[in-house]
Amino acid sequence: MKSSVSKLENKLSNCKYIFVVGGVISGVGKGVAASSIGLLMQARGHKVTSIKIDPYINIDAGTMNPTEHGEVFVLDDGDECDQDMGNYERFLGVDLCRTNYMTTGRVYEEVIRKERNLEYKGKNVEVVEVIHRIKEATRITGSDITIIEIGGTVGEYQNVLFLEAARMLKTKNPADVAFVLVSYLPVPSNLGEMKTKPTQYASRTLNSAGVQADIIIARGPIALDKKRKEKIALFCNVPEDNVISAPDVKSIYDIPLNFEKDKMGETLERVLSLPKRTANLSNWKKFVSKTKNGKEKIKIAVVGKYFDSGDFVLSDVYISILEALKFSSYESGVGIEIACVNSKDFESKKIPLSMLKKFDGVIVPGGFGESGIEGIISAIRYARENKIPYFGLCYGMQLMVIEYARNVLGLKDANTREVNPNSKNLVIDIMEDQKAKIESKNMGGSMRLGAYIAHLKKGTVAHKAYKADMITERHRHRYEVNNAYRERLENAGLVFSGHSPDGTLCEIAELPTSSHPFFLGTQYHPEFKARPLAPHPLFTAFIKACQGKKKV
Ligand code: GLN
Repeated sequence: MKSSVSKLENKLSNCKYIFVVGGVISGVGKGVAASSIGLLMQARGHKVTSIKIDPYINIDAGTMNPTEHGEVFVLDDGDECDQDMGNYERFLGVDLCRTNYMTTGRVYEEVIRKERNLEYKGKNVEVVEVIHRIKEATRITGSDITIIEIGGTVGEYQNVLFLEAARMLKTKNPADVAFVLVSYLPVPSNLGEMKTKPTQYASRTLNSAGVQADIIIARGPIALDKKRKEKIALFCNVPEDNVISAPDVKSIYDIPLNFEKDKMGETLERVLSLPKRTANLSNWKKFVSKTKNGKEKIKIAVVGKYFDSGDFVLSDVYISILEALKFSSYESGVGIEIACVNSKDFESKKIPLSMLKKFDGVIVPGGFGESGIEGIISAIRYARENKIPYFGLCYGMQLMVIEYARNVLGLKDANTREVNPNSKNLVIDIMEDQKAKIESKNMGGSMRLGAYIAHLKKGTVAHKAYKADMITERHRHRYEVNNAYRERLENAGLVFSGHSPDGTLCEIAELPTSSHPFFLGTQYHPEFKARPLAPHPLFTAFIKACQGKKKV
């Protein structure tokens, strides 16, 4: 153990490490804070990479229920990870890889494999694997600043292993490691006063893990006043300048600029003994100014099945889609209003399908299993028949093909094997290489995952949007369009405008603009590659079609 850590010291001198930890409650924007810090350092000319640590024992996020854990984000290399990885990619404009994501399960899986292989040479194995992974992500990306977000809040038993690894790094390399505590300052309505005590406790809990915060980000509904800044500084043992106020904002993309105003970049330079540099945030500022434009607003309905969590409606589960829609609308100079519509409410008749009339576009996101899909299929039919722009993503494309087969081809029982294996018309069927995986219950990390190439058909909506013959997009699915039905569907007017290079897998289905303003579905997830500074061409084409509908 000791020797492994000391071997590491030399290499650390070229790179700085910023650990971001949470206090008081989760869900206060630790991921966005970590992303914003990354952007500020990148704007100073540093090469930055980000790591997310999720302390749960699962190997990855792929098998977790989206209603409880939010979106599963997919990387180019197919890793199924936490939605914060999406924030990092969007803010930093980079493609991350598997090494940038770590869970307790993943660390233990690797430790057990190595230990059984005698790779630790008889030593007692402790947190070395965590340190090794942080170092690896830094090496692979060639970064000089690595930001590591430790999930959850300090004091939870699950993240002790990771805090200990971080503490060790700091002890060995005090000038190269910084700790940022993202805390929360509530304003109880009966008092109307901002309270610092929970943050004091969080800071002390961090101390009990042997770690002193260098910077405290004070999240709260309103900005921190001078008095509370002084209090936090005094009781949490940090200089006043290192307490950064982070009130709620309308758009998360304002946060890096707010941090910069509060001298976050300079403070980090001071803490990490980095040379003082000026941040070039001009592209980001241009983007942020576009987020304020757009008086005319288009209305989009996201018809999904993962919104209900008790009495609360969650939209986090589709966060990449919501952000992709926003980027394209900002680019098109139009405002956007997004409504989350639970497809199960169409099934129970709680809301009528005709409510879709008031929307300029309908999106159906990815999903799994049977619940809510009949509601989705009827919404797709409504969008097709009423010429409302429709964009289907993964399951949204498969269900669009099923709808077409049922209502245009007349195959009334058309379905996907995932929902009804006994249907006589499985227009969506299992991929050949997936059969054995399902039979042996090898379900985790075993779908068609990550970036694959697709070829586009000239003259189609997709080809016009991408302005390219070949694209690469991220996938996460087991089922696909059944080729036995391809010709019949095509004869009935559906166009398959994108295919895998060998032609066997349908990647995009669409209707020509002569019959519908925009009716397109992708077997992949374009939302994972939409970036603030590089909106996704298909989302932009969809938004343009929605603008067109509004004008009619
Ligand atoms: N359930 C479908 C499949 O596995 C679609 C998956 C998705 O939407 N990501 O093929």
